[in-house]
Amino acid sequence: MLTYILQASAVLKNVTGLQPVDTMAYPFDYKFIVKCTGCKTEHNNPVEMNRFDKFEITGFRREANFLFKCRECRRERYATLTRLPNKIDQDGCQTPILKISTHGIELLEFIPDDQFECQSSLSQRVIQEIGLEEGEWYDFDEEGNGDVGIHDVKWEIVLSR
Ligand SMILES: [Zn+2]
Repeated sequence: MLTYILQASAVLKNVTGLQPVDTMAYPFDYKFIVKCTGCKTEHNNPVEMNRFDKFEITGFRREANFLFKCRECRRERYATLTRLPNKIDQDGCQTPILKISTHGIELLEFIPDDQFECQSSLSQRVIQEIGLEEGEWYDFDEEGNGDVGIHDVKWEIVLSR
């Protein structure tokens, strides 16, 4: 059982509170490149997991948020996600976003291709539908009459104990 923390840093221009849009109505799909710790296969196709899916683990009276059968060794691998109560507010400061308790998989890389939100410090407006695949995002806040943006987004997956 390996527990990981997904953390991120960014440089913010006139925005605060950057975070994934991750609610029951709009679950964030966390996408990872994973490696099976049993047979050491690195899976080329990323896998997606969210906090709200529930799967029963075979042979256990327990549930996980993500269940996956390794195509090489056919063993069942699973993970459970916990959103940590943090938002990215400070430039360049690595902020823990998500805890992922895994069984049988190693998380190699995070691919941020779902929706993020933040708040404009010019108008206090919440801005959604932000994509960070390219590691940056820029817009003009009409209400606040100024530029808003996010750049130098860096993701890290660290082992927790
Ligand atoms: Zn395997």
